[in-house]
Amino acid sequence: MELNRNSATLKGPNEMFTGDVYIDRLSNGNDLSPMSVGAVHFTPGSRSAWHSHRGGQTLYVTEGRGLVQSRGGDVVKIKVGDVVVAGDGEEHWHGSDPDHFMTHISMTIGEATWGPHITDGEYYGTQK
Ligand code: MN
Repeated sequence: MELNRNSATLKGPNEMFTGDVYIDRLSNGNDLSPMSVGAVHFTPGSRSAWHSHRGGQTLYVTEGRGLVQSRGGDVVKIKVGDVVVAGDGEEHWHGSDPDHFMTHISMTIGEATWGPHITDGEYYGTQK
């Protein structure tokens, strides 16, 4: 067994996120156990860019209040205990709500494909 307690928190890259987002890597996938797991901490108003995951993604909200949207759908509020599943190649974004932190555990196997940042109009649901 391994006990890992010294991994530094990473800053989410500006190419992939708007606002301040911090990532704790919990598990890096390998050949036998390919799932990558991370705790992603969104400060108020921060969010990912549009993106998709090969093989999809499961999110488990552990703190705060957030927002998710699938391309073409409504902005949906999420909260502690919610599980959100994005399908294979489904374009989406996730983030905190404007006034609260949000942390989710992210579980993925395939790589992500990244697109444009989320505009304020998209974030506030006034522009699709
Ligand atoms: Mn995602």
